[in-house]
Amino acid sequence: EELRTLLLGRIQDVPDYPKPGVMFKDITPLLADAAAFGALTEALAELCVRHRADKVVGLEARGFILAAPAAVRAGIGFVPVRKAGKLPGATLAQRYELEYGTAEIEIHADALEPGDRVLVIDDVLATGGTAEASLRLIQRAGAQIAGVAVLLELGFLEGRGRLLGSLDSAPLEAL
Ligand code: IMP
Repeated sequence: EELRTLLLGRIQDVPDYPKPGVMFKDITPLLADAAAFGALTEALAELCVRHRADKVVGLEARGFILAAPAAVRAGIGFVPVRKAGKLPGATLAQRYELEYGTAEIEIHADALEPGDRVLVIDDVLATGGTAEASLRLIQRAGAQIAGVAVLLELGFLEGRGRLLGSLDSAPLEAL
């Protein structure tokens, strides 16, 4: 609870960004606060240990910022899921639906070993589309979902429900 208060107090609501009617959750004040960013990193690293993760997958771009230090702290490797066209090696790709149109994300085909337990980290779970597509990628790579951890879950968008089918009974944790 203390952690929640510390973290949530450092997230800024920005109205009408990136477009009118959207309330954007800006985590940059949290990142600039060493105590808050440190506590968040500890909490995410603990989740890696609790869920016996072998790898951390971070989702571009803010997920990278949270996932990388947590992976280092937990003593496990970091794997990026990137927007299409950014990874140099052979990739697996997954398309998913946006409000208007579609998006595509990729993972290096050899980044995960079959049987690896993977914790997925991102900053915000909104509709769940991005997280759902990344779970598909991880499963297609033959790895197992150890869990999904986000800093913030925008509950009204029902991303949790959308993810349920792909979670395979792994936990979805919002800090
Ligand atoms: P979803 O696919 O609709 O769940 O959107 C989640 C993705 O969009 C995540 O990668 C987030 O980083 C980003 N996102 C959506 N809403 C916000 C927000 O309010 N603040 C920061 N990132 C957001």
